[in-house]
Amino acid sequence: MGKQSSVKCLILGSGPAGYTAAIYAARAGLKPVLYTGAQPGGQLTITTEVENFPGYPEGVLGPQMMEDLRTQAERFNTEINYGLATAVDFSKRPFKVTIDEQTEILAETVIVATGASAKWLGLDSEKRLNGHGVSACAVCDGFFFKGQDVVIVGGGDTACEEASYLSKICNKVYMLVRRDELRASRIMQKRVLSTPNIDVLFNHSTVEILGDKGVTGVLVKNHHTGEKRELNATGFFVAIGHQPNTDIFKGWLDMDESGYLITKPGTTQTNIPGVFAAGDVQDKVYRQAVTAAGTGCMAALEAERFLVAEESAE
Ligand code: NDP
Repeated sequence: MGKQSSVKCLILGSGPAGYTAAIYAARAGLKPVLYTGAQPGGQLTITTEVENFPGYPEGVLGPQMMEDLRTQAERFNTEINYGLATAVDFSKRPFKVTIDEQTEILAETVIVATGASAKWLGLDSEKRLNGHGVSACAVCDGFFFKGQDVVIVGGGDTACEEASYLSKICNKVYMLVRRDELRASRIMQKRVLSTPNIDVLFNHSTVEILGDKGVTGVLVKNHHTGEKRELNATGFFVAIGHQPNTDIFKGWLDMDESGYLITKPGTTQTNIPGVFAAGDVQDKVYRQAVTAAGTGCMAALEAERFLVAEESAE
């Protein structure tokens, strides 16, 4: 396949970063092709209300917002396909990207907007009961445990925020923290520790989530005393951080020790000219829909300028 037949701008990912990049690239005439990844619409599709995205004074449901972004990208003729990038070859241009281990796409520029995914503890019971009482999103699923007792794992800002959210809906929230202190900011620590129905269990870990068709309890262990006990709970929330979706870029793109892609400060440029990164895949600090959308816009503008500069040099 020759240079002419390759896609000018390939976008990987369908969160706010990917769709915003698509809107800008399409309006600039790059005829972008977008592959959605495994979770079309990204993390916001597992959220309920989004109240902090500018332009929605009454708030908007996460899945609705992603539908709106998709419709807007399609309006300017972005080609949107279902599929997951499973391998890349960035050794020369056009870049080669394999989708679902079978389709090969040649691309002049690539915008990586593959986002981040929630981390899990890795227990069998966690996998088995996922969606049946086990969740990584309190805001999405807390409602189902109204008036009940639940467990949340983690000691960061996310866990504190979610514990606080759950405390308003549930009867009691057990918070399992693996160390003897919380990682969260002082203000969040204070909030959690002063909420009467949040019981913070320091030095505790999860041995097993109990239940057959749904969660009926959680077996926990105190590291200091070695004591194991069962907590009565019907919900189990995991809030131990996120993992950037960058496995396929290892060896090609520079990343930090946690796997987040490194971009040149103030830009979305990766170490490979013509490959740009936008959204949570390169942001472990802000991780907001609006910042992801902002960097998606930057990536499309940079891809366009990159191609223009190249054309005028030819
Ligand atoms: P963090 O990485 O900050 O915290 C993860 C927490 O989970 C830590 O307490 C960690 O323990 C614990 N943990 C990790 N792995 C395990 C495990 N296998 N078993 C048990 N516990 C585990 O992630 P967050 O998602 O909380 O936050 C990410 C970033 O986003 C942070 O910079 C945070 O400040 C920011 N954020 C800010 C908010 C705000 O300002 N409103 C809201 C939410 C997030 P340990 O401490 O021992 O490593």
